[in-house]
Amino acid sequence: MPIKFPFSRRRAGPADAWTKCPSCDQQVFNRQLERNLRVCPTCGHHFRMGIGERIELLCDEGSFVERDAGLTSVDPLQFVDQKPYPERIEAAHAKTGLSEAAVWGIGSVDGHPVALGLFDFRFMGGSMGSVVGEKVARCLETALTERIPAVIVAASGGARMQEGTLSLLQLAKTTAPLVRLDEAGVPFVSILTDPTTGGVLASFASLGDVIVAEPRALIGFAGARVASGTVGEELPEGFQTAEFLLEHGFVDLVVPRAELRATLARILRLLPVAVAGDEGLLDGTARAWGPIGALSGFAERVGGAVSETIGIDAQAGAAAGNGNGSREHLAEPPAEAGERR
Ligand SMILES: [Zn+2]
Repeated sequence: MPIKFPFSRRRAGPADAWTKCPSCDQQVFNRQLERNLRVCPTCGHHFRMGIGERIELLCDEGSFVERDAGLTSVDPLQFVDQKPYPERIEAAHAKTGLSEAAVWGIGSVDGHPVALGLFDFRFMGGSMGSVVGEKVARCLETALTERIPAVIVAASGGARMQEGTLSLLQLAKTTAPLVRLDEAGVPFVSILTDPTTGGVLASFASLGDVIVAEPRALIGFAGARVASGTVGEELPEGFQTAEFLLEHGFVDLVVPRAELRATLARILRLLPVAVAGDEGLLDGTARAWGPIGALSGFAERVGGAVSETIGIDAQAGAAAGNGNGSREHLAEPPAEAGERR
């Protein structure tokens, strides 16, 4: 029978009490990491954050109310890779306590009510299948009907492979409401965290009126090697980091986590929701503001050019429509449209 010594040396602590920082290799005490908003106190490396912590970080205390929590994935394709898709969902649920990779709801940031969507990378790499796409779309649509700004914090590897084409459809589903938000003058703030890639970046995440990123976040469409292989060129060092994208105009702000809430509150103050009904008076100029306006304006101009070559009068159709479309309006500088806010 083993003898127990009352004075045996205490163990140093559970092995998971420390986390090694991948940037500076320092061991960080987990509790210190939590206190420091999951930012390495030595080098400032931003660790990934769960949805609950993110809500605490951004929202006024107790203000966030989740919506559509009961939406769960089905397995329409009966997809099996190394294990069946439902088993992967179950494992991700057991690991994170979440029913899907995204959560959305209504909360307030410094007193500003927002429709807030959040991703958790730990749930199947934050991948966007039908449920995640639906949650993002409902978040944006509710922002429109309630006329409150939409804010989405992305962290995703992209479309969910296990749902095949259905997950690709989410790109269109999440992008379409943004055009309506844009027309209605309801702002959308996109916050990109480490990592935001693939189909999520290629849809709503890159279409914010303001795009904010966390320091050193990986942001890109395909992996660095694939991207470089596709264009057949050596790409610059760190071309998929938040800082590189800030320098090249894709990201508007890189904000350390400690300042994220205050910065978001400032953005919400500076981008008020247009008064309902005002957007009807704005004619085509409203579409020229912001990335969506620029994109749809460009699409219409390209569409116009195409219809000229195939002999269709694009302008007549636009004039008969909702008055959004004449090319003279779209060609006007966006500065003027800025007045609407
Ligand atoms: Zn570090």
